[in-house]
Amino acid sequence: MAQVQYDCSTGNHPNITNSTASPVEHEQIQLLLHVCKEAKKSAYCPYSRFPVGAALLTCDGKIFSGCNVENACYPLGICAERTAIQKAVSEGYVNFRAMAIASNTEEDFIVPCGACRQVMREFNRDWDIYMTKPDGTYIVKTLQELLPLSFGPEDLKKF
Ligand SMILES: [Zn+2]
Repeated sequence: MAQVQYDCSTGNHPNITNSTASPVEHEQIQLLLHVCKEAKKSAYCPYSRFPVGAALLTCDGKIFSGCNVENACYPLGICAERTAIQKAVSEGYVNFRAMAIASNTEEDFIVPCGACRQVMREFNRDWDIYMTKPDGTYIVKTLQELLPLSFGPEDLKKF
């Protein structure tokens, strides 16, 4: 199993629970909110007609976007959040600070599904997830709050 290097300058590490990570700066949050909205426009969702966009901020300031990509064989569809993560990992980035998610749902803040929460968990517990509405408002939770008592890479080292 490949070992992931956690050398984030913000101090994020799966074994560190009292992270010293500084809050994401206001400008970066605004940029993330903008990018996830733009990414939503690329959503390929002819079956659900539920476009979602995600924007993933790495620890070194790079942003990867993602959208949901559905398939006629329904189970093969993938969420926007995982698209963004897979784009980042495939380009060598595994240290993440924040993700913003956008949909067209006006009544509720869009939240990541359970599968996406687990995939996010693979890469730390302490990063921030911004869940938005189309009007630009959002709520933010740490992944630890969204997926408490989670199973992650360090659990496999306990044998
Ligand atoms: Zn999902």
